[in-house]
Amino acid sequence: MKRYLFVDRDGTLIEEPADEQVDRLGKIRLKPGVIPALLRLRDLGYAFVMVSNQDGLGTESFPLMDFNTCHEFILNLFSSQGIGFEQVLICPHRPGDGCACRKPRTGLVAPYLADQGWDRSRSAFVGDRESDLEMARAMGIRGYMLGEGLSWAQVADDLALPRRTARICRATSETEIEVEVDLDRPGRRSIDTGIGFFDHMLDQIATHGNFSLSVHAKGDLKVDCHHTIEDTGLALGQALREALGDKRGIGRFGFALPMDEVHAEAFGRDALAEDPGVAATLDISGRPHVEFSLDARFTRDQVGEMPVQMVPHFFESLAMSMGLTLHLAAGPGNAHHQVEALFKCFGRALRGALAITGTALPSTKGSL
Ligand SMILES: [Mg+2]
Ligand SMILES: [Zn+2]
Repeated sequence: MKRYLFVDRDGTLIEEPADEQVDRLGKIRLKPGVIPALLRLRDLGYAFVMVSNQDGLGTESFPLMDFNTCHEFILNLFSSQGIGFEQVLICPHRPGDGCACRKPRTGLVAPYLADQGWDRSRSAFVGDRESDLEMARAMGIRGYMLGEGLSWAQVADDLALPRRTARICRATSETEIEVEVDLDRPGRRSIDTGIGFFDHMLDQIATHGNFSLSVHAKGDLKVDCHHTIEDTGLALGQALREALGDKRGIGRFGFALPMDEVHAEAFGRDALAEDPGVAATLDISGRPHVEFSLDARFTRDQVGEMPVQMVPHFFESLAMSMGLTLHLAAGPGNAHHQVEALFKCFGRALRGALAITGTALPSTKGSL
């Protein structure tokens, strides 16, 4: 589907002069990095639409001829570098005029808003003022405000990242669960299931899996935590499967072993002595299957508020809804360590499998 980059002009494509009026050629300076960024975005398939407020254009203080000379010079400059604008939309009014076309009002882009044939989730508005961000919100697309913390190169980097995100809302008579994942912008986590130890374990999966995760669950904890843990596993698996989309370019396979950094980080040097020995191997195969081998039993029935028998059940639920072939193994040790090491190890294995490592679908069958 078509994707658009709506772009402000003054302060965004070119520097804004102190008097905020570009009416002489000598006032034209390109913003740093704008040409390479737009060329990258053009090659990613973006079409450009310029949307600009030009206060009092056509009045005595801002004659149309002065504007046109500069504006044509700017358009020629961009087109000489291979950057064309599908449309140039300009509001010539002043703030007090009460027109419908002055940003952040959406009059200028009304035909675009009426058209459902372009991809809102991949389109964006780039500007240099709060009103440009407001415009983006009004259009239902992502907004970027250039300035101190944000350069054109960073805007292009962010737009070039995949949008592997999903939001799942799952409600039954037993639980209400909302799960959100973003596989390409790690670092954000917000987890609350009402089961402290389980929250901590989900956090381990996201941290070691290198993705952003939000989980909010309200379950029938009065009964016990079975439904909440099971349904969270199902919702998380579904979210990961949806976010992966067609799975093009992913690593697909993942594995993690006891002696790697997961383990060292989990227990520190001293604790390595009482090594519970965990391993995870997985394949985002589309064929759910779980092998859970426990050399020794869990040494306790319960860790925090979480019964340890829910650990294999959680992984089974997740694997079923995600389409995951998963082998997990844990050796003897402290039960808290056994469980925590399993979640960390699973997260580490997942990291490699979720990561984009190429462009092809990693399957000879043509689907996963
Ligand atoms: Mg501006
Ligand atoms: Zn207007």
